[in-house]
Amino acid sequence: MSLVIVVADSVRADMLGRPGGSTRTPFFDGLAAHGTLFERVVSSAPWTVPSIAAMLTGVYAHRLGLAKWEQPWPEGRPSLFDLAAGAGLEVGSFVFDTGHLFRNVPVARVRGSSQDVPALLSWLEARRGREFVAFVHHWWTHVPYVSRPMTSPVWRKVTDALMATLAKSETARVKARELYRMAVERFSEQWLPRLVDTLDLDTTWLVVTADHGESFGTRPETAALKDVFDLHGNTLHKEMLEVPLLVRPPGGGPARRVPGLARTVDLMPTLADLLGLKPVPTDLDGASLARCVRFGEPAAASEAISVMNRDFVDLPDLPDDPLDLWSGISLATPSRKLIWKLRPDERRAYDLTTDPGETTDVSERDAALLTPLWQRLETELGRAIVGKVLPGDAERIRARLRKLGYIE
Ligand SMILES: [Zn+2]
Repeated sequence: MSLVIVVADSVRADMLGRPGGSTRTPFFDGLAAHGTLFERVVSSAPWTVPSIAAMLTGVYAHRLGLAKWEQPWPEGRPSLFDLAAGAGLEVGSFVFDTGHLFRNVPVARVRGSSQDVPALLSWLEARRGREFVAFVHHWWTHVPYVSRPMTSPVWRKVTDALMATLAKSETARVKARELYRMAVERFSEQWLPRLVDTLDLDTTWLVVTADHGESFGTRPETAALKDVFDLHGNTLHKEMLEVPLLVRPPGGGPARRVPGLARTVDLMPTLADLLGLKPVPTDLDGASLARCVRFGEPAAASEAISVMNRDFVDLPDLPDDPLDLWSGISLATPSRKLIWKLRPDERRAYDLTTDPGETTDVSERDAALLTPLWQRLETELGRAIVGKVLPGDAERIRARLRKLGYIE
């Protein structure tokens, strides 16, 4: 059996797999008619690098310590790629820019850019009838929501131009949301069918998910919308953390809609379970959802932990102290959501049974009830680490930032 994982960047849970919602995605819905769609899936972090690493290792982002594109993944944390390679499956990844995601993750076996659609499709086409694991990071749902190949400098320019308009007017924000919606629809209706067309769906597990969501200045802390980090990165509310997740078995299966709480860290142990990949590490944060896929059982996680980091993408170094790297941590349970911002300390809690949109802080009202949950977050924060930056890369990052005028 083969496995193809498609991660559509920045696609919020309510943008895919919710017929009657704001998007029209009949092709994706057709795939979901023969697969398992999870109703609530929480990502480990609100931006790409920490989120994808957590998804593929089954370990929460704060225990991996990654906040820069150039960082190698921590040793001793085998990923789904390691397990697949160990089972003799060919591995191939397609990322938006080969100098960014997986730059120092050789086991991901980056084959090229997902933006070079003909090359991606011919790689997949050539593997029909063979066993392989492909990871495809779809980039065109990310701001600026343009579905054509762009180098990273061009991407930066187009994005900066869009962000400048967002800061100015509500009309521009409405327009950006519309561009976002159209990008998600193009992903479903134009890009995905071409990809699926190259696959032998009778022998391939197909997973479609996202790394994090997107926000358009609807919270006070993101209202300024100055940088990409305001769209996703700097809060732990549901619009930034909750993502779609479809698992379609080879040959298709019954349409399952799985209620309950699932997490993107569950994906690695789930796929290892479904494909029979071993050995699955015993100290993962994620747990297998295979029974949800096979028998339609509810997802039964009791909690999901997520973290956000200060934005270090345009800085040369990382701090030594984990509490200088991670700026907030959250806990989601089936009925509660706690968001703890560090330095300065600010704690908010939401009762999801009456307030699914996370708008009314009940941290004082429910103080007694919440105490063990805050303690749970303190314990989790005690496990946070700062990952490495390779010495050669530290210099390379410095040179790049100097060239861009970020540092002297
Ligand atoms: Zn992303």
